[in-house]
Amino acid sequence: MNLLDYLPGVPDFPKPGILFRDISPLLANPAAFKEAITKLHDLAQSFDYTHILGVESRGFIFGSALALHANKGLIIARKPNKLPLASHREFYGLEYGKDSLEIQQSTIPKEARVLLMDDVLATGGTLIAADKLLRNAGFTVCGAITLLEIGALNGSTILKENGISNKTVLV
Ligand code: IMP
Repeated sequence: MNLLDYLPGVPDFPKPGILFRDISPLLANPAAFKEAITKLHDLAQSFDYTHILGVESRGFIFGSALALHANKGLIIARKPNKLPLASHREFYGLEYGKDSLEIQQSTIPKEARVLLMDDVLATGGTLIAADKLLRNAGFTVCGAITLLEIGALNGSTILKENGISNKTVLV
């Protein structure tokens, strides 16, 4: 099975010039979704982690499925003003805009070793922000995994330059 067949590119979404990879067909196909989680799990096993950090919102989908599959804890990094006990915020630039992420330090065990998780790696801005967010709150980050990297944007190299070891299922 070629998982890329289930991640079609939608031109000019959400802005002109962006080829947006739509994960909906993959989620709607049980065999494709299962294979995606199995492959993410294979990659995750090379990291010594206790918790997965899912980045809102598509990182929640893959992060929660992987956390259950791998028997790990799930931490959520949310968009602003969603967490009742939010303690740390990090601003970042996206391929197509600006945003920020928040975590709730009080609900994360101090000894957590966190693996960052998102669906797509584009410029790397989101994962770099998630990494800073956790480190500024005093947590250990092991690395990052993604389902798909948009190769032309060199996100992997940018993550490495920022000290984040990452693996991705598809480029
Ligand atoms: P980055 O911060 O530029 O690496 O962008 C990654 C973030 O934007 C992730 O949270 C993705 O969910 C989202 N994203 C960027 N490009 C795409 C895409 O083509 N399809 C789906 N999500 C995307």
